[in-house]
Amino acid sequence: MPKKNRATAAQRARQRQAATGEKYTTALRAETRAAAQRPAVVHAMFSAEGAGWAPIIQRAERALDEVWPGHPAPHWEEKFGDLCWKGAPWSQGPEVWAVVNQATREAASTCQTCPSPGRKRVVVVGLDWGGMPWVKTCCDACYSVPPSHVWHPFLRKEYQQLVEWYENRG
Ligand SMILES: [Zn+2]
Repeated sequence: MPKKNRATAAQRARQRQAATGEKYTTALRAETRAAAQRPAVVHAMFSAEGAGWAPIIQRAERALDEVWPGHPAPHWEEKFGDLCWKGAPWSQGPEVWAVVNQATREAASTCQTCPSPGRKRVVVVGLDWGGMPWVKTCCDACYSVPPSHVWHPFLRKEYQQLVEWYENRG
């Protein structure tokens, strides 16, 4: 679905045009081709998996070993773009929460899918996860605008509301 990347390709084409002095249409053709060749990222609801967050999780687990030897294996989860430990025991001391909060903070500015800087963006999760709007922490390359023709008016409204809450806030 190469059209998914159209907005991003246009932005990249302008950057490329500025950098190379090529004509805009030439730059856009090249960038559209590049976008079509990039494998589309399928976002999974609640999943914290991905090459961007994996090192953050590993660091957090090493730090947990220090402050809480024998701790239960954390169940890491993504929730509206945030990394969290689902069902973390509340009885633990502040040093444990400091580790978890540090990981959440790092994840908030790191693309979950690749190790580029990222921010909260509204995406559409894969059909296995309902194909609905969801928030993920993404870089430009792992983000894509949903194809507008698939939108039911209800989903479009939900999408726009999430954009308002997560992308356009402060
Ligand atoms: Zn990325």
